[in-house]
Amino acid sequence: MATIFSKIAAGEIPSYKVAEDDRFFAFLDINPMVEGHTLVIPRKEVDYIFDLDDETYRGLTAFAKKVAEAIKRAIPCKRVGVAVLGMEVPHAHIHLVPLQKESDMDFRADKKQLTPERFKEIASAIAAEFKN
Ligand code: 5GP
Repeated sequence: MATIFSKIAAGEIPSYKVAEDDRFFAFLDINPMVEGHTLVIPRKEVDYIFDLDDETYRGLTAFAKKVAEAIKRAIPCKRVGVAVLGMEVPHAHIHLVPLQKESDMDFRADKKQLTPERFKEIASAIAAEFKN
């Protein structure tokens, strides 16, 4: 059965898309730690990131780098933090989180509540800065 993230990458479940190519897809986390919190996934369905074949793993990290550069240009931040947990969704994904301070990356903190309009604005701003 397809994972929820495969359905998102296929456009079967809506998301706030940030970037895509034929192998990878980036979209806003629906429960963001801060504005601009983005998830980057391979279209290939593999649960654990370190079970990806080397070529897909390298491609995913290279794609995530370009997404992080776009986030840095679009969202005021000092750095874009990177994390991999995978405790909730069994489809490999990289969290990219624009950081002003260390505590902006806190997986246990209350998540930001954003309107659909704000999600759209943030996704468009990052997408506009993405250079494939
Ligand atoms: P993890 O598996 O890395 O522990 O966490 C999964 C992340 O995916 C969480 O930050 C959660 O908010 C996000 N997430 C879970 N389901 C959805 C969804 O349907 N859409 C989006 N955009 N994000 C999701």
